[in-house]
Amino acid sequence: MKKNTAQNCQINYALALITNSWPLNELSMKFSRFGTRFTRQSGILQLMDDLGRALSTHRDMLMLGGGNPAHIPEVQVYFRQRMNDMLNNPGEFERAIGNYDSPQGNSIFIDSLADMLRKNCGWDVGPENIALTTGSQSSFFYLFNLLGGQFDGGREKQILFPMVPEYIGYSDLGIDDNLFTAVRPIIEHLDDRLFKYRVDFNNLKIDDGIGAICISRPTNPTGNVVTDKELQRLAKMAESQGIPLIIDNAYGLPFPNILFTEANPLWNDNVIVCMSLSKLGLPGGRTGIVVANEEIIQVLSNMTAILNLAPGGLGPILAQDLVATGDILRLSHEVIQPFYQSKAKRAVSLLQETLKGIEYYIHNPEGAIFLWLWLDGVPIDSQQLYERLKKRGVLVVPGHYFFPGLEEEWRHRQECLRITYSQSDEIVERGIKIIGEVVRAAYEIT
Ligand code: PLP
Repeated sequence: MKKNTAQNCQINYALALITNSWPLNELSMKFSRFGTRFTRQSGILQLMDDLGRALSTHRDMLMLGGGNPAHIPEVQVYFRQRMNDMLNNPGEFERAIGNYDSPQGNSIFIDSLADMLRKNCGWDVGPENIALTTGSQSSFFYLFNLLGGQFDGGREKQILFPMVPEYIGYSDLGIDDNLFTAVRPIIEHLDDRLFKYRVDFNNLKIDDGIGAICISRPTNPTGNVVTDKELQRLAKMAESQGIPLIIDNAYGLPFPNILFTEANPLWNDNVIVCMSLSKLGLPGGRTGIVVANEEIIQVLSNMTAILNLAPGGLGPILAQDLVATGDILRLSHEVIQPFYQSKAKRAVSLLQETLKGIEYYIHNPEGAIFLWLWLDGVPIDSQQLYERLKKRGVLVVPGHYFFPGLEEEWRHRQECLRITYSQSDEIVERGIKIIGEVVRAAYEIT
C-alpha cells in the first residue's frame, strides 16, 4: 500500500512537472466546445500519458524532464521556520487559512512588493499595479485570452512569440483555436559548441492581427536571456502598435534571479511582467504575480473574482517577511542563483565531455533550470531520441513541443532535447552519461 502511494505520488509529480493536468483516453460524455479542448489528445497530453506509463513501469527512471524547482535546503529551512512561527503565533495560522483575500490578492503582500519593486528595480509602481493569481500559468491563461482571440466586428488577434523555442505550457492556453503565432530565431554560434538564439527582427511583422507580444526571460526551455537591447526593441515595437509586451519573468529578476548573465529588468505602463513564487521554491503555494497598468490589473482581478473568488493566501503569507525585509533578494542572489549556476556549469561540462566528436551544440545557459541540446543533422528525430532514452531509463522532453505558434517547417525543431539539471548531481551525471551513449549511437547507427 505504502509503495503504491509513493509510486503514484512520483507519477503525479512527474506529470505535474510537464504541465499540470491529466489526459483523458476514453470519453463517454459529450462536452461543450470549450470542454472538448481539455479532452482531446494534444501532443503534450500524449507525452504526459506516456511519461506516466514509463514511470509506473520503471521506478528508477532518471527524471531530467521536469520543470520542478530543486529542493534547496536553505530555502526549505526558511519556509519551515516561517511556518513554525506562524503556528506558534496565536491566531496567525487561523487567519491565514480562515479568510479569503480580495480578488486582487493579499494587500499587505502587494504593498510590500510594490515598495520592493520601486526601490530595487526603479519601477514606478504602486499596489494598483499588482495582482496576484493562482500561479503564473493562470496569469497567462487570463492574459492571452484577454488580449488575443475574437474581438468585436469579427476581428481575430493572435499572441505573438517573437522567438521560439518557447515555454511548452503556453501551447494549449487559448480558448480559441489558432491563438498563437511565432517567429523562428537567428542562431548565433559561440565558442565551445555553445550557441545563442537571437530575435530575428527582420522577420518580425506586427500588424492589427497581433494582440500582444510575449517572451519568457530567462526562456524555458533554452536558458536564453534576451538582451536588454532586444527587450527594449520589442517593447518599442509593441508600444508603437498600441499592444502590450508580456514578459514571463518566472525565473527572472529580482527574484528568483536564476540568471547567469548581465540583464536589467524592464517595466513600463505598456509592459506586463508576470512573476511567480514557484521557482523560488514555493510551487505548492500557487502564487503568480502580475505587474501591469491599472486597467489590466482591474480586469485580471475581476477574472480572478469570477473564476477563483480569490488567489491562494498561503504563498503570500509565507513570503511576506522575505519581501518586506528585502531578504528575498539576498536569498535569490546568494543561495538560489549560485545553486543553479553551479549545476548548469557542471551539466554543460559533463555534456561536452560525453558528446566529444559529435555535431552537437548547447544553448548558452544564461538562466532558468534547463539545458537545450541541439543535435545538428542527427539522423533520427527528437521523438525517437526521447523513446530511446526512455528505454534506457532517462526522461527528457523532446524539443518539438517547444514551438507553439510556429507554422513553417523547420528541421531544427526535431533536433533538440530539453534536459533539466535541477535534480541531484548523481542523477544528472548518470542521466547525461546515458544521453551521451544514446546520442552517439543515433549518429553512428541510423
Ligand atoms: N512560465 C514559465 C516559463 C515556466 O517555466 C513555468 C513553470 O514551469 C510557468 C510560467 C508557470 O509557473 P507557475 O504557474 O508555477 O507560477
